[in-house]
Amino acid sequence: DTPTVCFLPDEAATLAAGAALAGCLQPGMVLTLQGDLGAGKTTFSRGLLRALGVTGRIKSPSYSLVEPYVVSNLYLYHFDFYRFEDAEEWQESGFREYFHADSICLVEWPEKAAGSLPEPDLALRLNWSGEGRELQVRALSPAGAACLNRFPL
Ligand code: ADP
Ligand code: MG
Repeated sequence: DTPTVCFLPDEAATLAAGAALAGCLQPGMVLTLQGDLGAGKTTFSRGLLRALGVTGRIKSPSYSLVEPYVVSNLYLYHFDFYRFEDAEEWQESGFREYFHADSICLVEWPEKAAGSLPEPDLALRLNWSGEGRELQVRALSPAGAACLNRFPL
């Protein structure tokens, strides 16, 4: 299937794309973000988390593996599995418990936890395109497809 694609000329556009996508998310959804180091995964996540109501500093989870937020009754988990080791670490971390009906999970470097992670509703990829970035979004569930239909980027 062909992804929805949009060109992001600068950092502000990446933040705005994250904010736009936030508007259609439902509790229980999982988003994965792929792309090389510096592609803009954390920038996109910041735009999304701000739009969902996160105030204060939004740190990259590259050292902690996960940064948790709570906004009213919604649990937001921002993961970065770049430094993730293996399936055993997944078992010991208890990360499976973070993926539940009242949480929204954003996952950078999902490929490092392949086989352990639940299937995402939306799979995003950021690639370099000239001085900017190209964002590709694929819906992998009915909830993800409904989201993309409501908020074409
Ligand atoms: P990642 O999490 O993928 O490693 P970051 O979001 O931490 O990447 O860093 C991305 C870098 O690229 C930041 O310096 C940011 O300012 C910049 N950036 C983000 N989006 C764009 C864009 N659309 N065009 C140009 N630069 C961007
Ligand atoms: Mg990052």
